[in-house]
Amino acid sequence: MDQSTINALRAQVVPQRLHVIDGKDVPASDGGLMDVISPIDGTVLTQMAKGTAADMEAAIAAARAAFEDGRWAGQPPAARKKVLHKWADLIEAHALELAVLGVRDNGTEIGMAIKAEPGSAAGTIRYYAEALDKIYGEIAPTSSDVLAMIHKEPVGVVGAIIPWNFPLMIGAWKLGPALAMGNSVVLKPAETASLSLMRMVELAHEAGLPSGVLNAVTGEGAVVGEAMGLSMDVDVLVFTGSGATGRRLMEYSARSNMKRVYLELGGKSPNVVFADAPNLEEAAMVAAGAIFRNAGQVCVAASRLLVEASIHDEFVAAVAKNAEALRVGDPLDLQTAIGAVNSERQLTQNLGFVQSAQDEGGQIITGGARVLAETGGFYMAPTVVTGVTPDARLAQQEVFGPVLGVTAFESEEEAVRIANSTVYGLAGAVWTSNLGRAHRMVRAVRAGVVHVNTYGGADGTVPLGGHGQSGNGHDKSLHALEKYINLKTAWIKL
Ligand code: ADP
Repeated sequence: MDQSTINALRAQVVPQRLHVIDGKDVPASDGGLMDVISPIDGTVLTQMAKGTAADMEAAIAAARAAFEDGRWAGQPPAARKKVLHKWADLIEAHALELAVLGVRDNGTEIGMAIKAEPGSAAGTIRYYAEALDKIYGEIAPTSSDVLAMIHKEPVGVVGAIIPWNFPLMIGAWKLGPALAMGNSVVLKPAETASLSLMRMVELAHEAGLPSGVLNAVTGEGAVVGEAMGLSMDVDVLVFTGSGATGRRLMEYSARSNMKRVYLELGGKSPNVVFADAPNLEEAAMVAAGAIFRNAGQVCVAASRLLVEASIHDEFVAAVAKNAEALRVGDPLDLQTAIGAVNSERQLTQNLGFVQSAQDEGGQIITGGARVLAETGGFYMAPTVVTGVTPDARLAQQEVFGPVLGVTAFESEEEAVRIANSTVYGLAGAVWTSNLGRAHRMVRAVRAGVVHVNTYGGADGTVPLGGHGQSGNGHDKSLHALEKYINLKTAWIKL
């Protein structure tokens, strides 16, 4: 990866993007298009189809037809495995192109995008390609006059609604296991990050995925996403995004065919630092990275820093120093540590949180403002706010931006109480050299993942899923497969 190749790719004109339905590029039923704004400089990058409910219904019908005639589900596992590996090969071969296109669309710093997007997506697809011929049915331990077999079948049509922060990585978390198990899929990328994911769909067809098995409709969540949610013909809906949308999806399900709904929602993840942490310097550096990478637009971002009172001032100063050292700027510059905020709407929301934190008595230690406004892009300085009380808005609600709220605690018991004082439960961390305390904290903190003396980096071998209002079900690992299969018992009298 060198700067001149990135520059050449960023200079390319991005063609208009249409839906992919039944293997063909299809315009919106009413011809509608929407502008794609680049957060790098606020300019119009290209246009894409602005889908209608009829477009979504057509995509779902194509997925259903493909599922029913067995063109994918009916193929031998080895054949499906081959296609998925070929797809991963193509994603790797086009990695930089996909990453640069994605960054122009969503603003993630390129260093992170290249690893977390095509790199991770290809790895995930390979993982499930390898898993698909190692999943067996079961024979139940019944009495000897009966044979009871438990089959694992694909569910049928999967609807997948994807957010804008890591479209390829999160897209692959859904597509890998769904397709590996033989389902057909309809994909709804996010308004502000559709382009790279649509290109990845194109590559799936190039790899030999039959038409109709993977369809993708772009457009507004409230239109095409809603049509997917209300469909009578989608069997499972998988989603990563905000709690508000997650709640709507459950309502859509209840109002339609009671489709299974799996939600990976937000978090307000606590990073708990005790005075006996093995290396406070490293802890301060990681604490900054854990909230500020991708401008805080990470579902597992460590957005609450809980620090033992005896080291509070010194530790906060070290975190602020690390934050200030992170260069904010053009996400396609290899020297940039923090790229753009995804949209103007998101930037305004972030700044609103800073204001309300101050109104509630918080002190801004560093950052707190928009920067590089002259570029036309959406950038924000990494922001550290101290004196955040556990009930403050900044401590309770997800910002999804580069804003860290700091709260001091006096005891382990108080740390646990504050850590668990939100409706969320996605991730967390504890820094200590006391083994007993580390294990106690892992048990006590309500979260799908608790890190010890590190943050992030959990790979595809472990499940990701939330407790509480951070969601249900799991992405990654073999546990993810459960969302995409139906169990069926054959009870046979012998
Ligand atoms: P954010 O507010 O951060 O954009 P959302 O939860 O709104 O997060 O977006 C995540 C995904 O959900 C996007 O693909 C978006 O288009 C989709 N979405 C938004 N609103 C709806 C809705 N009413 N029904 C279905 N999908 C939606």
